[in-house]
Amino acid sequence: MKKYLVIGSGFAGSVLAEQLSKNSLIEIWEERDHIGGNCYTERDKETGVTIHKYGPHIFNTDNLEVWNYIQQFCEMMPYTNRVKSIYKGNVYSLPINLHTINQFFGKTLSPVEARAFIESVSDKTIETPQNFEEQALKFIGKDLYSAFFYGYTKKQWGCEPRELPASILKRLPVRFNYNDNYYAMPLQGIPKNGFTEIFEKMLDHPNITVKLNQKFVPSEVDFSAYDQVFYTGPVDAFFDYKFGRLGYRTVYFEKHTAAGDYQGNAVINYADEEVPFTRVHEHKHFTPWETHEKTVYFKEFSKETAVEDIPYYPKRLSNDMEILRQYEEEIERLANVTFLGRLASYKYMDMHHVIASALEVAKNFKNDVV
Ligand code: UDP
Repeated sequence: MKKYLVIGSGFAGSVLAEQLSKNSLIEIWEERDHIGGNCYTERDKETGVTIHKYGPHIFNTDNLEVWNYIQQFCEMMPYTNRVKSIYKGNVYSLPINLHTINQFFGKTLSPVEARAFIESVSDKTIETPQNFEEQALKFIGKDLYSAFFYGYTKKQWGCEPRELPASILKRLPVRFNYNDNYYAMPLQGIPKNGFTEIFEKMLDHPNITVKLNQKFVPSEVDFSAYDQVFYTGPVDAFFDYKFGRLGYRTVYFEKHTAAGDYQGNAVINYADEEVPFTRVHEHKHFTPWETHEKTVYFKEFSKETAVEDIPYYPKRLSNDMEILRQYEEEIERLANVTFLGRLASYKYMDMHHVIASALEVAKNFKNDVV
């Protein structure tokens, strides 16, 4: 059998291992003391609530293959993410929809009227938006952008929105009806017993060995002992940062517990720049099929990733892209290492993107039996 080394046990590494486990021997090295990467969930001891330790994860996709695949490993409960935003003392509906527009401008517009109104306030001088800010001004105009996106995005990314790619804003829909589903994806849910169970099931195979607390230092590894190495960590770390560090944002949380219901919703965003946190998540609302007397909620803060922090969001500013290009040239020369996942490809990928790409990579190795 072929022997593979997989670095990291998030979705990229776990899906790959699961797919290749039939025909090969797989070792997974995971530097944390648990599997599942940032999707890891666990029951909170004090409240009994399942918490998403590294921030909220709501599974959503338009890829039926991925949707069917994931459900081999969990019972996916129907869940619709509905997010609110607080701006200058008022609560608004997100993503921008007819309710938000009517609330914000104090109107009672119909869908047709709202479309015409937003058209009238949008910036028509921008033809092809070159960045986040231009995309927003063209889409929704200055007032909605300033209220709901400017401050939040500055806090989240630590830079001016005009430095960020337009693609980040395009993640969020703008609607002229009262549909307040945060996602545009048709398939959405939360695993009944949390995300960790998915990883446990994926990796439960005699051909897969998981080594926890096992840090990967490329210079100390004998690559020739493996037929292929699959790396899912940060791409710059693999090369010991020789061309410089790529910009990633990280987030950290302030945990609180209370009796009852703290905010009445899973996620509430804080749009004002002066409020230091970006959002508050109250995790028992992610499992409406359970009841809990107590509650646990987290204030989420964002900052630049320091050496000891877990990288979350690739910034992809122009300087980062120049550094990335140099790492990618090195990757081209490495025949026996495959880079995959959000950190190794330095792309803003969601769970379903990562799973789809790992399934694709696995196809190239699946029938590779000696
Ligand atoms: N965003 C914003 N205000 C909000 C929510 C999102 O300005 O209330 C911006 C922000 O820049 C964020 C981006 O839209 O990074 C994408 O939002 P999404 O909810 O997809 O981010 P994620 O869930 O990946 O953190």
